[in-house]
Amino acid sequence: MGTDRDATVCLLTTGGTIGSIYDPAIESLRPGLSVKVLLQSLPKGLRHVNVITREIFQLDSANAQPHHWQEIATAIKKTHDEFPDLDGIVITHGTDTMVYSASAVSFMVQDFGKPIVFTGAQIPLHIPWSDGPRNLLDAIRVAAFADLGETCIVFNGEIHRPTRTKKMRSDAYDAFDSVDPSPLGTLGRDIVLFERRTQRHNLVPRFDTRLDERVFLLKVFPGLPPEVLSRIVDMGYHGVVIEGFGTGNIPTQEKSLTGSIQQAVSQGCFIVISSQCAFGQTDLSIYAVGRAAMEVGAMSAYDMTSEAALVKLSWILGHTRDPMRVREMMMTDYVGEMPILAGEVAVEKAE
Ligand code: ASP
Repeated sequence: MGTDRDATVCLLTTGGTIGSIYDPAIESLRPGLSVKVLLQSLPKGLRHVNVITREIFQLDSANAQPHHWQEIATAIKKTHDEFPDLDGIVITHGTDTMVYSASAVSFMVQDFGKPIVFTGAQIPLHIPWSDGPRNLLDAIRVAAFADLGETCIVFNGEIHRPTRTKKMRSDAYDAFDSVDPSPLGTLGRDIVLFERRTQRHNLVPRFDTRLDERVFLLKVFPGLPPEVLSRIVDMGYHGVVIEGFGTGNIPTQEKSLTGSIQQAVSQGCFIVISSQCAFGQTDLSIYAVGRAAMEVGAMSAYDMTSEAALVKLSWILGHTRDPMRVREMMMTDYVGEMPILAGEVAVEKAE
């Protein structure tokens, strides 16, 4: 992008380690730094970039709830309405649930056509070896100049698609990994972007924050009592993502889950099976212990991460509970969350 005019970026803050301070009274970190302090960490006189700031909320992201995802998406819409010529948006956020919030924003704000960049840090900004200043600067650089038209996470020199990302490390600088395929890009002397990312464009953005919060994520483990699923349905949940083993397998003999799944489906609860593995995909057709789930009405998350499947199911159920439509929407790739279905990744199937 040329530098014939200055770029303008809006920085929205939500808390997280990047904006945290050590509080001696509680002997732990809590959010507390103002956006002014965040800006002071940047090199003086950011050449060719104007930064507008807004504080949305100040939370440790462990406290983020689905309504906070909606608040972030609403803040993006407001910013867009107020400054239609913005080059991009940066959102500082805690790393713990950044993938959920950024995935939710990916579904809620489609066709934005400019970068919406989430970033944060593993070490608070005021500590000399914090990764915060670098990540914030990288995020601003991507928002201002990258030819990217979608929501992303910029962290440790990499640009990730949120629905394809997992927090893999709790203390290393490289907190996040993209799970098949690789990141959307990297930052070095140049911003290197891979072809499959969405480029900047001028379509009319679609903002749609409807969400059904009554969606549960249940991890299968050896010994899981199947009644747990029935209790979840009795509690009024409309959807459950069951994180199965390997390719989406579940117990079908002792403590079989199939009866509870069948009952849940007959009560109008949507069941999606994802995988506990970070890499690879759910394929319920491989083993008898996967097919059994499919036969009683469970849907497959295919190559979606459990985080993306949970957010997507909440977003879909915010729009419809018609079984055919839910199935159809679950199998539609909206924001690159299912690269295999979208044909971005070739898969060779074993016989
Ligand atoms: N607990 C922090 C948060 O998610 C961790 C971080 O930001 O790295 O807000």
